[in-house]
Amino acid sequence: MEHHYDCLVVGAGIVGLGHALAAQRAGLKVAVLDRDTRAAGASVRNFGFVTVTGQQEGITWRRARRSREIWAEIAGPAGIAIHHRGLLVCARRPEAMAVLEEFQATTMGDGCRLLRGRDLHDEAEGLRHDLVGALHSPHELRVESRYAVAQLTAWLAAEGVTFLPRMAAVTVETGRVTTPRGTLHAPHIVVCPGTDLASLFPDVIARRNITLCKLHMMRIADPGFAFSAAVMSDLGLVRYLGYAGSPSLPTLRARLEAEQGPWLADGIHLIAVQGADGSLVVGDSHHYADTPDPFQPREVDDRILAELSATLAVDAPEVIERWVGVYPSGPDVAFTEAPLPGVRLSMVTSGTGASTAFAIGEETIADLTGDAPPEHV
Ligand SMILES: Cc1cc2nc3c(=O)[nH]c(=O)nc-3n(C[C@H](O)[C@H](O)[C@H](O)COP(=O)(O)OP(=O)(O)OC[C@H]3O[C@@H](n4cnc5c(N)ncnc54)[C@H](O)[C@@H]3O)c2cc1C
Repeated sequence: MEHHYDCLVVGAGIVGLGHALAAQRAGLKVAVLDRDTRAAGASVRNFGFVTVTGQQEGITWRRARRSREIWAEIAGPAGIAIHHRGLLVCARRPEAMAVLEEFQATTMGDGCRLLRGRDLHDEAEGLRHDLVGALHSPHELRVESRYAVAQLTAWLAAEGVTFLPRMAAVTVETGRVTTPRGTLHAPHIVVCPGTDLASLFPDVIARRNITLCKLHMMRIADPGFAFSAAVMSDLGLVRYLGYAGSPSLPTLRARLEAEQGPWLADGIHLIAVQGADGSLVVGDSHHYADTPDPFQPREVDDRILAELSATLAVDAPEVIERWVGVYPSGPDVAFTEAPLPGVRLSMVTSGTGASTAFAIGEETIADLTGDAPPEHV
């Protein structure tokens, strides 16, 4: 095994891969180590929904736009299929439509269109006819993460990045990473530990008030219609920070509290995306704990399915797969810190890693190598 690199990345999830890509593009000799034999955490359990519209205004939104550009650039060479381009945020209530109208009038609404009646149903099959309307955003992409992360890993390996599976980083110091199988050396080290809050730099993580968030996810059999954009509904507007500035949001929230209190208590919002075989990935819920329980109570899934049936014409969704995913969660959307010279700890502490990791990787690598910050900063 080679022991000397220009850049070592701990963690082969999407945040680690984002850093590996940026480092490889900067001309560095890169190795990525992971304690697992393949990424099996949040990065493959998610929707693969590269979301721009709805991201918090400012750096998160700009990172999402940049990351979306990078996904679009690498998808072809890496053999990654793009299943959706765009997003339909469906309004079930007039109050939600008011939020969408206000959002569309902002800078972040650039390129987005409001759709009602016939226009809406011409845009997408399978939407319920009692929807008030929708906002169509052209910015999003959707990949099937369970394949895309493996394809991205294989492509990076073909481009010269070394992957060191089943290799746990036990200690990280300036210039070196100690593993049970030997010491690796590099002037630049990036730690992307996902949900491991205990092994590396636990004090930094504790100071950031990071906990974990558990999400319920399901795959639904092909409903018999195809849609080209990801679908969301009213509940997403009160969760996604990008809509926070909308004057009508408190009115929508009050109506949701009156009509869908249990959904809000479970942190449910609807995302539905479709894969090549027609099946839908549908979720999700949000339950926070330092050690989330591993269980998936049926009533939470049933609420998610009820929201699906209230938005799409899928009256009896057939669930063909269920799983839970966990991501780190904290007051910051994401953070990168320098616990030691030449070392960065990079964590996405919200459910946005598939949408922002590539841009964060560019920022961290430019910072480590002393290059100018990327344009999106
Ligand atoms: C159900 C679900 C749905 C989501 N949907 C979306 C979505 O549609 N769009 C979006 O943008 N985001 C979404 N997210 C969020 C996104 O998936 C995460 O932000 C992202 O995957 C985090 O990536 P990561 O690389 O930090 O973590 P992970 O994927 O957890 O990877 C971390 C890796 O680090 C390794 N590791 C940790 N410590 C060590 C160590 N000491 N030594 C060696 N290896 C180590 C682990 O083995 C693991 O492989 C979702 C998340 C979940 C759970």
